[in-house]
Amino acid sequence: MSHIRCRWLAIALLCLPPCAPSAANTVEIDRNGQVLELQIYAADAQASIRRWADHVADALTLVYGHWPRDRWRMRVYTIGTADARELDSSRDVIPWAQVNRGTVDTVTFYVLAGASTEQLNANWTGYHELAHLLIPYRGWGDMWFSEGLASYYQNLLQVRAGQLSEQQMWQKLYEGFERGLADTAFDGIPLSRVSRNLRQNGGYMRVYWSGVRYFLDIDHRLRQESGGAQSLDTSLTDLNACCADKSMSVPQMVERLDALTNTTVFSAEYQRYRSSTTLPDYRALFVSLGLIILDGKIELADNTPGARLRSGFAIAP
Ligand SMILES: [Zn+2]
Repeated sequence: MSHIRCRWLAIALLCLPPCAPSAANTVEIDRNGQVLELQIYAADAQASIRRWADHVADALTLVYGHWPRDRWRMRVYTIGTADARELDSSRDVIPWAQVNRGTVDTVTFYVLAGASTEQLNANWTGYHELAHLLIPYRGWGDMWFSEGLASYYQNLLQVRAGQLSEQQMWQKLYEGFERGLADTAFDGIPLSRVSRNLRQNGGYMRVYWSGVRYFLDIDHRLRQESGGAQSLDTSLTDLNACCADKSMSVPQMVERLDALTNTTVFSAEYQRYRSSTTLPDYRALFVSLGLIILDGKIELADNTPGARLRSGFAIAP
């Protein structure tokens, strides 16, 4: 079993499992024969957590039309004693989470006690962590690929679930790319090496947003070259159909994705990105999608070929 840790902040604030309530309230949620085992370790706030879990788990179906695995688990611990009325919008109500891959994939969340369903739904971490399950990644190597996928899809899942407008989604992607471009400490060093040394040396924005740029690039090209018949969604759906129960490295996945799409785009771009020495600029791609950047704000142009292509990203296939 391997795991991916996404959130490193606020670790000192955590009530880790030994001090959490030992008994879980477990329910099994069935969606067309697939089962989510939801374990909630909390003295109260069970109803708000249950509604949030339903919401993000439903969002995860907005790529294939179903969950990535026939059986999977969400484990939720509450930390702190905050009252929802004391939690202003600047508080990160999900300070830590991780994905453990195994026979049954488990996504563990630590949420602030007292957080409302609305606050939890508005937090990106839930969508991000569940999006990790969209590929049968074994949990080590090429972290830029895994984190890029989750960071890309956290935005697509939010817009498809009605949590963000289309403008807000592109605004978030724009702001992320700007953070990535501003993270210049390791410019000149190949992405593969920055990614490998991420935890020791940092460079998170360069690594994560290079990965997002890779997936946006591929999604755009697949949609454009197939007239909308293919996309990253359809590619991952096919990968899930063949390989959901496998444990694959990133080179194995890109090779399989090329075969499934009858293209070479996944492996060619994989090689290009892993040797990239700075985050590739995104602006020409935004222009081609009818996205106008004005004083740091994204405006959506209508009535252009790019705008019609762009609208597909926000819609579940
Ligand atoms: Zn992550």
